[in-house]
Amino acid sequence: MQGKSGCGAIEVVYGDITKEHVDAIVNAANPELAGGGGVDGAIHKAAGPQLLEECKRLGGCLTGDAKTTGAYNLPCSWVIHAVGPVWRGGLANEDELLACAYRRALEEACRIGAESVAFPAISTGAYGFPAERAARIAVSTIRLFLEGRPEMRVRLVAFSKTSAHVLKQALEERQAEEGSWK
Ligand code: ADP
Repeated sequence: MQGKSGCGAIEVVYGDITKEHVDAIVNAANPELAGGGGVDGAIHKAAGPQLLEECKRLGGCLTGDAKTTGAYNLPCSWVIHAVGPVWRGGLANEDELLACAYRRALEEACRIGAESVAFPAISTGAYGFPAERAARIAVSTIRLFLEGRPEMRVRLVAFSKTSAHVLKQALEERQAEEGSWK
């Protein structure tokens, strides 16, 4: 979906983020940056063992923050490791921490000059964040960040048909709210 003039574009795609030919992919990492299951495991597996070596030198990453590494055997140039919150029922600042993880990942993308960035649905797997709520936060945070950055292209990569539907719905809702967004 194209952004209005002066705004970067956001689109939802269905697939495996490790196959994305973009400047940077975002990893839904843990605070130890130690690799793990889910998308984190898939990214480390596809990148090769050097990714974990580089991660170990970073000294971890706080929840809501993001750090960048090389991409090794992946078809992108960088991996931005963003740490989303574990869902604890909604009263532990999870919404703001999730927004913060998206924002920090986008700030990292700008810092390294990455114009195309692919995100997984951070925190919605093992971390248990409700998918619809997470999708609305992802879309609104990214949308705000892309204002005044027309060169940027963000791909929300859904790993299931259900996730793709939820993300598309959140994007359409946001578009409807803004009216003029085509
Ligand atoms: P978290 O611990 O942040 O919840 P998970 O990896 O468990 O991270 O899940 C985050 C999201 O990433 C889930 O929606 C999951 O289905 C999705 N996912 C898992 N593997 C991939 C992949 N290879 N590409 C894109 N998304 C993936």
